Amino acid sequence: MSDIADRAIWRIEKDVHNAMAHVRKQQMLESDGRCHFCDEQIAPALLFCNMDCRDDYDKEKAALRRAGR
Ligand SMILES: [Zn+2]
Repeated sequence: MSDIADRAIWRIEKDVHNAMAHVRKQQMLESDGRCHFCDEQIAPALLFCNMDCRDDYDKEKAALRRAGR
């Protein structure tokens, strides 16, 4: 009976795949202790000071992509 083990491996591979996809999406950004949108000082591991800044940053990026830059 290896069903449970197979399922567990499938689950782990899926999790790793999702994590890798997430990392690739965030690859452009490096945390430097400042919010990437408003330049506020934040904890070193963070990219943005709050959700609003992250959303606005994403929107700005999307707008730039649409503008072809
Ligand atoms: Zn901010």
